[in-house]
Amino acid sequence: MAGILVYALTNEGAINKNSLGAVSQAAKLAGELGTEAHAVVVGNVDDAVAGSLGEYGAAKVFRAKDAPEGVSTPAVDVLAKLFADNDYDYAIFGGGLLGFEIGAGLAARIGAGITAEVTGVKVEGGKLVAQRPILGDSLISESNYKGKGVLIGRTNAFEATQSGSAASVEDITVDLSPQAGKVRLVKRGEQRGADINIEDANVLVAGGRGLGAAEGFQLAEDLAAAFGGGAAVGATRAVVDAGWFPYAGQIGQTGKTVAPKLYVAAGISGAIQHKVGMQGSENIIAINKDANAPIFEFSDLGIVGDVQKVMPALTEAVKAK
Ligand code: FAD
Repeated sequence: MAGILVYALTNEGAINKNSLGAVSQAAKLAGELGTEAHAVVVGNVDDAVAGSLGEYGAAKVFRAKDAPEGVSTPAVDVLAKLFADNDYDYAIFGGGLLGFEIGAGLAARIGAGITAEVTGVKVEGGKLVAQRPILGDSLISESNYKGKGVLIGRTNAFEATQSGSAASVEDITVDLSPQAGKVRLVKRGEQRGADINIEDANVLVAGGRGLGAAEGFQLAEDLAAAFGGGAAVGATRAVVDAGWFPYAGQIGQTGKTVAPKLYVAAGISGAIQHKVGMQGSENIIAINKDANAPIFEFSDLGIVGDVQKVMPALTEAVKAK
């Protein structure tokens, strides 16, 4: 059956928020195309968790229990088999580094067109058209697919909406390719400042070299803690390269793409490679002692000052609210 398959990315059995958004988006598009959206989870995901994808619009959920979570090749094997067995037209991913890797692998395996950083999708002439911002988000480009298409969303581009009820979960067994066994997940990167993934945070306090040292991140952690649940701490690549902060928290071209409701950039210059990973944030507050720092060009609120003075004052102000 031609339709849309969504890869629901999981982290230790929990489904990532962007994948829920991808399922809702796929269900809406499938409705317009007169077909169905299905979802697949890889790894040992609970019945209730996998089935809950139905609440976001998946008509059916597949689960490949025996394939390992967290690495790309087994997931590509699983998705490619589902494409071979069901003749889907499109795969949609919510984003995330692993989503990008698996999406690229799937497109290569099945000979599909691929569009990454998708922020909108429409139906034209019975086919999907993916939209993605280009040239620093100043233009929108549109991708049409001659055959099958793989669409990878930009973080938080697709809104998760609960509309249905739990779906049935079908367990599938996939013969993994020889390459699948060559990479295994040894350990997950440490995440500091909050228990939540920075891609899921509502408030993100990001620190740059202006925080002065690894210890300077205490200022960012204090501010995130003042905001309470839903707030996390991230960093620039300069800081990660310096060993001040783990890579799991890196935002930008070679890190994660984030789009929280509030992004606080503390001691960050605003290099283009950082900007591309956070410019989708709803509100950006920048604190920098250099009034000419590029970050102020794309901030909603700029504070010219020393992070050592501004951050504690901001933390106290947030706590007082
Ligand atoms: P800096 O550029 O050194 O800026 C520090 C800022 O802090 C300055 O503006 C300074 O005025 C301010 N400051 C200093 N002291 C204080 C103080 N006490 N109070 C207030 N402000 C202060 N970068 C990323 O972030 N993510 C990426 O994914 C990424 N990928 C890259 C990929 C490639 C191929 C390349 C070439 C680069 C990449 N970079 C990436 C690096 C990027 O170009 C910048 O070097 C990096 O973002 C700079 O980090 P920063 O803002 O922390 O440091």
